[in-house]
Amino acid sequence: MLQVLNPATEEPVATVPAATPADVDAAVARAAAAQRGWAAAAPADRARLLRRFAAVVDDHAEELARLEVLEAGHTIGNARWEAGNVRDLLDFAAGGVERLNGRQIPVAGGLDITLLEPLGVVGVIAPWNFPMPIAAWATAPALAAGNAVILKPAETTPLTALRLAELALEAGLPEDLFQVLPGTGPVAGNALVEHPGIAKIVFTGSTRVGKSIMAKCADQVKRVTLELGGKSPNIVFADADIEAAAAAAPMSFLDNSGQDCCARTRILVQRSAYDRFMELLTPAIEEIVVGDPADERTQMGPLISRAQLDRVRSYVTDDLPGIRGKAPEGPGFWFPPTVLTDVPEGAPCAVEEIFGPVAVVFPFDDEADAIRLANATEYGLSGSIWTRDVGRALRASRAVKAGNLSVNSHSSVRYWTPFGGYQQSGLGRELGPDALTAFTETKNVFISTEA
Ligand code: NAD
Repeated sequence: MLQVLNPATEEPVATVPAATPADVDAAVARAAAAQRGWAAAAPADRARLLRRFAAVVDDHAEELARLEVLEAGHTIGNARWEAGNVRDLLDFAAGGVERLNGRQIPVAGGLDITLLEPLGVVGVIAPWNFPMPIAAWATAPALAAGNAVILKPAETTPLTALRLAELALEAGLPEDLFQVLPGTGPVAGNALVEHPGIAKIVFTGSTRVGKSIMAKCADQVKRVTLELGGKSPNIVFADADIEAAAAAAPMSFLDNSGQDCCARTRILVQRSAYDRFMELLTPAIEEIVVGDPADERTQMGPLISRAQLDRVRSYVTDDLPGIRGKAPEGPGFWFPPTVLTDVPEGAPCAVEEIFGPVAVVFPFDDEADAIRLANATEYGLSGSIWTRDVGRALRASRAVKAGNLSVNSHSSVRYWTPFGGYQQSGLGRELGPDALTAFTETKNVFISTEA
């Protein structure tokens, strides 16, 4: 049994049965049967059903958002956005069904065409930090491309995923096409990874588990997409609008209590602007409203679990210098907004993904020094560049090794632009114009005109 707790109060919310390998076997067999009918259906019918699924999600957006607040401690504003994001992902994917075009390639003596065929049954292993959107990032395009999906949500956050599966049926999606199997990673997650009936795994979570999944997928040459960790830089050049950069910096790493793979947790500030930036950043951090996630005024809620709180505490000891905001006392997994200063470049808090409301700040001398510091990590997911010099913005965008950069902004994720990591932040891309193609095989067919 999985025990779901409210992270803001530590009170039990629900218990959910954990799937066994036998449950996974049965689910894969049912999904494979459902997928055959789905792939054979008219594209317009698949698109219509996905649009209806989006509409049903929209009708239940407030309910889904409240559930997300309860099981994940997300602020209600964020949770509403997340439910809307699922709707939009389904709508966007539905629009791709009839546009999943192959190609016609010039050849002598015949006609050459490519067919984009569905993979079959796709296994989606989701994390707890954005349970709904990240599950839908893979599920929506996989379904649109003609696949079945088995989603294993994280142990701590199965409830919104289970509700989405019910809403899919309410919308009229075929039975067994989209199944949700809550369970533990090493048992249910691993059974999906090892199952020969699963054609592709989409995994979002820690780099450590991602590497082990990739190694297991290699045994079957199983397709895999990995969205892993990050330790993303926020580079502030002295020629930037320093007021705007300092105002935007707090929520760039405090959103979702820092449990965000794109969090800008390494703030790099050009030395000549450092004092001014810190003078603005300090009150901004101290004033962040941390508390009841269901309260509309709250900017930051709790961490997901006791284990995550212990992990964050292990990086941030009281002796480290820095800025510390406020957090509630008493039950709940609370940690204050924190910016550490004067830490060594190679300190664990400066190079490892903490996944909590903690950033480190470093001064840099010039553009070359900024790029050196920005790239001093094994990750490469996101990053921000603040400057008014367009040439510098472009040079830095080319030089920073990361899949998702923003200039004078911290925005990383839009469902219609590609998302994914360089280096140890992942493999493959999700979202964007090619989202459906990632769930297809390309088959080349040559038809002779000579016979
Ligand atoms: P995790 O990688 O252990 O879990 C993510 C998902 O993988 C969960 O659904 C889990 O059940 C499943 N899983 C775990 N072990 C598995 C296995 N052997 N086979 C198949 N599936 C397995 O992440 P976590 O323990 O929940 O969090 C630990 C750290 O991971 C965090 O502190 C953070 O650094 C990182 N993380 C990153 C992201 C991200 O979006 N990039 C998300 C969650 C966690």
